Amino acid sequence: MTSPLDGFERLTIKIGSALLVDSTTGALRKQWLGSLAGDLASLKQRGREIVVVSSGAVALGRQILNLKRGPLPLDRAQAAASVGQVALAQAWREAFSVHNITIGQILLTPNITEERRSFINARATMSTLLALDAVPVINENDSVATSEIRYGDNDRLSARVASMLGADCLVLLSDVDGLYTGVPGPGSSARHLPRVKSITPRIEAMAGGSTSETARGGMITKIEAAKIATQAGTAMIIAKGTGDNPLGALEGGARHTFFVARQSPAAARKRWILGTLEVAGTIHVDAGAAKALLNGKSLLPIGVTKVSGEFSRGDAVSVKGPDNEEIARGLAGMNHEDANLAKGKKGAIITEMFGHMNRTELVHADNLVLVSASEER
Ligand code: GLU
Repeated sequence: MTSPLDGFERLTIKIGSALLVDSTTGALRKQWLGSLAGDLASLKQRGREIVVVSSGAVALGRQILNLKRGPLPLDRAQAAASVGQVALAQAWREAFSVHNITIGQILLTPNITEERRSFINARATMSTLLALDAVPVINENDSVATSEIRYGDNDRLSARVASMLGADCLVLLSDVDGLYTGVPGPGSSARHLPRVKSITPRIEAMAGGSTSETARGGMITKIEAAKIATQAGTAMIIAKGTGDNPLGALEGGARHTFFVARQSPAAARKRWILGTLEVAGTIHVDAGAAKALLNGKSLLPIGVTKVSGEFSRGDAVSVKGPDNEEIARGLAGMNHEDANLAKGKKGAIITEMFGHMNRTELVHADNLVLVSASEER
């Protein structure tokens, strides 16, 4: 039998609070988490890169702090998130350590995911964790995010994370097994939809409110997530995750809704960098650097002959070869002043000049698109 996860290489898995935390006792569902970690370890062993977006901080924290049921005022919810996040990270660490898998915690806010300068930092850290064979475990930084600058739900956050990382599939594990044409339940004629090719107004209208107590994300935020993900080239799956080994069950044919990606992640990135960003500067490179770029490498200062224009880290820059033809565009990893200082110099010298906290690529390969290349990487 083919699994809906077949063919995907970088998976982002979002786990809702209702799965991690028992709704009656408020305690962590340890055995279930252990079974999920087993599923993830098995996928990882089969060569998949895994990124986890985990809710549950507020739900765990309120139990630890003995806060009463029902909606919490913002200050208490933030205090609960602060306490609960420690327990949550600890739980993930324990669950994965059984499989000798290391985790790295990343807490995000919309100003990190939406602002290019911080976006490229956060993405570089997550990519490095993956390269080091660790699993990033991500949540919203609920204890500091103010109401104006928070996602508030991890459905949309996970879709942004998946799109930032060029993940080809996002799985939302939830307490529902997918999208229905109406409100499902006894006596209802609502039909389950196994596959959604595009998110039309009719599809949006099918999303009702949340039925779960602990999770904020109902079907509306899941459809919002599907829009973000599929547009960015990430396929999305909504599956029921309440039982043990939920990903094993999904791979074995459990009911779910699959949202088809509108393009590949590489094509989406190309469209974004080439189509929507204004170029703030130009970097001229020698023949060696031009060749390295065509081979998918990062742009290093050693091959740079001239830097023109004024740009900040995260701005779009054009890269031109020795014959002055544009070969690539990308997001600058340094501002124009540093780029001018670094040009023509080796990595070790740049590290000495700028200190170890700085990255030495002028444009990282993840932030670069070739102007003439086909859509796929
Ligand atoms: N970030 C919240 C938490 O960890 C959960 C948000 C959600 O349920 O989507 O408690």
